[in-house]
Amino acid sequence: MREYRGPDGAPPALWWIRGAEVMTPAPLGRADVLAAHGRVLAVGRGLDPRGCGVAVTEIDGTGHLVVPGLVDSLVHFGGGGGEGGFATRMPPLAAGTALAAGVTSMVGALGTDDVTRSHADLLACARALADTGLSAYTLTGSYRVPPVTLTGSVRGDLAFIPEMIGLGEVAIADHRGSQPSAAELARLASDARVGGMLAGKAGTVLVHCGDAPEGLALLREASSRWPVPIPQWHPTHVNRNATLFADGLDFVREGGSIDFTTSSTPDFVAAGEIPAARALAEALAAGVPVARLTLSSDGQASLPHFDAQGRLVSLEVAPIASLLDAVRCATLRHGVALTDALAAATSSPAAIWGLARKGRVVPGADADLLLLDRDTLALRGTMAGGRWWTPT
Ligand code: ZN
Repeated sequence: MREYRGPDGAPPALWWIRGAEVMTPAPLGRADVLAAHGRVLAVGRGLDPRGCGVAVTEIDGTGHLVVPGLVDSLVHFGGGGGEGGFATRMPPLAAGTALAAGVTSMVGALGTDDVTRSHADLLACARALADTGLSAYTLTGSYRVPPVTLTGSVRGDLAFIPEMIGLGEVAIADHRGSQPSAAELARLASDARVGGMLAGKAGTVLVHCGDAPEGLALLREASSRWPVPIPQWHPTHVNRNATLFADGLDFVREGGSIDFTTSSTPDFVAAGEIPAARALAEALAAGVPVARLTLSSDGQASLPHFDAQGRLVSLEVAPIASLLDAVRCATLRHGVALTDALAAATSSPAAIWGLARKGRVVPGADADLLLLDRDTLALRGTMAGGRWWTPT
C-alpha cells in the first residue's frame, strides 16, 4: 500500500470524498464525506468545502461504496502459533498487510504462547502499527489462568495501559488452556470489569473456545453463580463445529455475544468447521441480532495442513484478509444484506469492545473508512486515522 502525501510531503488535513454510496454501515445512499485531522467532520449530500481556507484533497468515490474500516476482534499481530515447536512461531503482522485487508482497528492477543511472547512486545507491536494511522489495541492475559499481565494485575493493566481494552483469549474447553474453574473465570471477568471501569473501558473478556464437548457451559455457570453480566464474555471460534455453533446461538439468546473466525482451511471445514460467512448467514436466519455477532480473522495464528495420514506437512499464517473476504462471501454468495455483513465486522465489534469512535461513518468518528467497488466489493483504498492508502 502506498500513502498519499500532499505537496508539502505531509498527509493532507482535509479530505473530500465525493459521490460514493455511503454505508454507515446502514445504507445512506449517495453522499459526500468530509474528514479532517483524523476525524469524520460531516456526512451528507452536496457538501463542498472549497473556499473554506484550508487546502482540500478530493477522492472521487463515483461507482464506489464508502464503508467503515473493519474492526477485527482478534489478530495475533505480535505473531501467533508456536504450538509445533519454535520453527512454527508466526511472524508479526506488517501494517501494510492490515491496510490492504481493509482492517483499520484490531484487537491483539497473546494466545497460547505467553512464554516466548510477552505483553511488552505485543504493546510495542501495537504502537508500531499505530504509526501508520491504524488503531491497535491489546488484551491482557492469555490462554492461561492465572493470567500473565504487564503491570502485575489485570486491574492495573486495564486501568493504566491505554491500548489494553480487555482480557483474553482465555481458553476454555481446550487442551491448551489451564482448565479454569467457573469461580476462577468469574474472578477474572470481575477484575477485567473493574479495571475497565476505572479507565472508562468495556473490559470485555475474549474467550477462546476449543472443541471439548462442554462448550460454553463454564461461562453460563460463572454468570449464574456470581454477578458477572453475560455481555462481559465474548466467546470466539464459535463456528468451530455445529454443536458449539448451536450452543453459541443459545448463548446470544441468553444475552451474550459470539464471534466467528474467518480464517479457515479445507481441513478444518472437512472436520466440521462452519465457514464464517455461512455461520453468519445461518445465525441471522435464526433471528440472532447482528449487534451480538462479530467476525474476526484470528490473523497471524498458524493454520496447519495435514497429509492423508494426519501428519503435519506445512503451516501457513492465518490471513487477516479473510475478514473482508468473509464480508464479501456472506453478501455475494450467502445472501446476507451488505449492511449486516458489514455490521458484523464494524459497528458490532466496536460496540462490544467499547470503542465509541470506531466502526461507523458518522460525524465525530475516527476517519477510518474503506472505498470498495460497488459490485465486487474489491478494496480500492483504505483511510486509517485520516491517512489514505491505496494498493500499489
Ligand atoms: Zn483462539
